[in-house]
Amino acid sequence: MAFSVYVTRAIPEAGIEAMRKVGLDVDVSPHDRVLTKKELLRELKKKPYDALVSLLTDTIDADILDAIPNVKIIANYAVGFNNIAIDEAKKRKIVVTNTPDVLSHTVAEHTMALIFSIAHRIVEGDRLMRSGTFPGWEPMMLLGTDLHQKTIGVLGLGRIGSRVLYQAMRGFDMKGIYYDIKRNEEIEKELGVIFKATPEEVLREADVVSLHVPLLPSTKHLINSERLSMMKPSAYLVNTSRGPVIDEKALVRALKDGVIKGAALDVFEEEPKLAPGLARLSNVILTPHIASATEETRNRMAEMVAENVIAISQGKMAPNIAQ
Ligand code: NAD
Repeated sequence: MAFSVYVTRAIPEAGIEAMRKVGLDVDVSPHDRVLTKKELLRELKKKPYDALVSLLTDTIDADILDAIPNVKIIANYAVGFNNIAIDEAKKRKIVVTNTPDVLSHTVAEHTMALIFSIAHRIVEGDRLMRSGTFPGWEPMMLLGTDLHQKTIGVLGLGRIGSRVLYQAMRGFDMKGIYYDIKRNEEIEKELGVIFKATPEEVLREADVVSLHVPLLPSTKHLINSERLSMMKPSAYLVNTSRGPVIDEKALVRALKDGVIKGAALDVFEEEPKLAPGLARLSNVILTPHIASATEETRNRMAEMVAENVIAISQGKMAPNIAQ
């Protein structure tokens, strides 16, 4: 019997094709939406699947893992894998893979786009133009904030965080500081970025704080009301990591009260919902979790998913074990 794969939602054809080309039996969910737990369990009972391709919107918990005793690999179509009960998967000897590196440049570009948009008031300007109320050039209209020579502070200097610093420091003449649980002296030397011993120091000194940590129990609400109050009133907070890294209700209060100047967010605590009041604030920019959503990157992510599944189907080591 062919090695069978269940894909929870259509991903770019490049990945599906690559798996079918080597003879894998690939079933893709017929619904173009997130499956409920009940639906997913029902789908997974249709065949003794050997592999599961999951998305970050699928919660793969112990109940799901119990329903797929034949599965040898869960290939997540994302670099973050907080949606998978990784210890439970390990207990069952299931390999979990992700899609690292391939999206770092793209997510960093989106992060920079958010930083520029909030500092240069691009979205507010666009809204004003479309409203038909542009009075013509005015000396004091929509004054923004310069970024060159300002300090960007990164929390989480991994693949994406280091790329953001590279773009901000090399491309836009910003100064860089960071905090990470692991110090990276190589990047410090290469970029001239300065390590701070605590996240609080970064929050106090940075003009732009950009979050790039994975979502873990230790990073949930890393940014809470106490830490927001440590930031400069002129500073911006940018999040392209995972929503629950910020206490979103506390952020709404901080933005309303002028504790910080603004925020730009691609991820939200309870997607697709937003904290009450967030969407009404003019000092915040919101994008719908699209930081990795370019054609090139999404295709490459689909190919990586296929490479991982194919390797396991051939009894080889998967190239991108999630860790
Ligand atoms: P990575 O593993 O390379 O980097 C994460 C860094 O965070 C590591 O250096 C790690 O040491 C550090 N870290 C962990 N816990 C920390 C803590 N408590 N305080 C400070 N630093 C800590 O991961 P990456 O590839 O750079 O991706 C980062 C995250 O970005 C992913 O986990 C994912 O959740 C998110 N992401 C979001 C999108 C999007 O569409 N918005 C796309 C890709 C990735």
